[in-house]
Amino acid sequence: MSAGVVDQVSALQVTKEKESALLFQTYERFQVLFERGEGVYLFDADGKRYLDFLSGIGVNALGHAHPAVVKTIAEQSEKLMHISNLFYHRYQAELSESLTKISGLDRAFFCNSGTEAWEGALKLARAYARHKDKAAKKPKSKFLVMDNSFHGRTYGALSTTGQKKYRAPFTPLLPGVTFVKFNSLADLRKKFDANVCAVGLETVQGEGGVQPVLPEFLQAAREMTAANGALLILDEIQCGLGRTGKYFAYQYYGVSPDIVTVAKPLAAGLPLGAILATNEVAAAFHPGMHGTTFGGGPLACAVAKTFVNELTSPGMLEHVQDLGAYFLAMLTELKAKHKVIKEVRGLGLMVAAELKSADVAKVVVKEMLERGFIINRTHDTVLRYLPPYIIEREHVDAVIAALNDILYANSAAWPVRRKQ
Ligand code: PLP
Repeated sequence: MSAGVVDQVSALQVTKEKESALLFQTYERFQVLFERGEGVYLFDADGKRYLDFLSGIGVNALGHAHPAVVKTIAEQSEKLMHISNLFYHRYQAELSESLTKISGLDRAFFCNSGTEAWEGALKLARAYARHKDKAAKKPKSKFLVMDNSFHGRTYGALSTTGQKKYRAPFTPLLPGVTFVKFNSLADLRKKFDANVCAVGLETVQGEGGVQPVLPEFLQAAREMTAANGALLILDEIQCGLGRTGKYFAYQYYGVSPDIVTVAKPLAAGLPLGAILATNEVAAAFHPGMHGTTFGGGPLACAVAKTFVNELTSPGMLEHVQDLGAYFLAMLTELKAKHKVIKEVRGLGLMVAAELKSADVAKVVVKEMLERGFIINRTHDTVLRYLPPYIIEREHVDAVIAALNDILYANSAAWPVRRKQ
């Protein structure tokens, strides 16, 4: 065993033991301790290289240690990191200028995370209902949200997350929430009524297994909300900001939402989320109604400006579309060889391969990690890929080759006969 391996084992071991004694036991971590990243690669304490096809669950869209991001952090951190929202700095307005331009919305509120953006969007929808109908004794208050969705871990977000396993330990939850079967027009029509203040959904469900909304469902949600003075809120925390090959996934559908939430890649690894809304809707928040200490600080916003600059640089979205289509085509070829693959799907670089066996999916993620590839499993059977936007075809080829090997090597582990 080399000295490096001893170091890593001990660094990992020491950290594991300390964490197990000192941290809330909320995470089941993989057995690897990372020390640095560069581009599409991460390196563990032993210097072993890993191709990162998860990018911190959709955060490191520009890869690791991107030179422009590093430069902005270095320069801005020397100047100003935090001032609170009691004072002006130049970057919130500048960032909102870029985000409104690419989203078609009018205004932004900056916060710290995805769940906080979603919370704010829910509050804004209820405030808007009151603001719009000041004479109403009981303003509209019902949220229609989707089965199989994921919006975060704080109470409002949790209450509107359509998966029982997340909600069950924490009841009672926020009242006024009704779940609709995702993509079922009949269920949407059945549950929509005059008390609905907003319909909220992920344009592409992420944690729910990479499931895009159907065009006719999104269109109907838009029409029903518009006709009834209710709002359409789209959660683009995972699928927004270039992930699908458009700035926002709803831009594939020709639908204009009233509120959009973003976070994950916005500040390239620093915590930053945003609520984007139309002028009319944003006017429902008056000074003092909503706020945050850290959200929208100068460091995170300056870095986010750098991120949006890169995102809007010529060829970036086309690259995501091209690589996404290539990856999907390669996974489709793999599906023809391995019957354990039930379905492949994706939009841009938000890609999934659903397997017929949770056991096999678990083994695949573990063995991919051992071979130096980081991928993720969601919903037990879905292999999810959220690579950085800067990957090239050779990286896709390497992932496909490793997956192919692992599926062949483990083909005895599931009862489905595979094609030779
Ligand atoms: N909404 C969606 C669609 C997400 O994928 C996530 C996180 O995975 C969230 C909300 C919550 O974001 P955060 O973990 O930053 O609070």
